[in-house]
Amino acid sequence: MLRDEQNQCPCCDYYSLARRSAHDVCPVCYWEDDGTDLDRMNEVSSANHITLFTGRQNFGAFGASDQAALSLVATPDERSGLRREQRATYH
Ligand SMILES: [Zn+2]
Repeated sequence: MLRDEQNQCPCCDYYSLARRSAHDVCPVCYWEDDGTDLDRMNEVSSANHITLFTGRQNFGAFGASDQAALSLVATPDERSGLRREQRATYH
């Protein structure tokens, strides 16, 4: 079971990151946190090779930031105790 962290993941909006912009990989969605956030959603993230917009769409569609990470992400059960504040995204 995952525990709440201080920082919200820019991709899945769960509080899953102990720090920001340190290239930590989110256990919930497998986005690598290179500092990209909603204000740069349409720039291709060099660490993730996709835009944050696409990562967020992917998480909404199938529960991982990228198809390749699907087998690595936390299960719905594992993330069920984790706080999430979903942020609206417009582009
Ligand atoms: Zn995440």
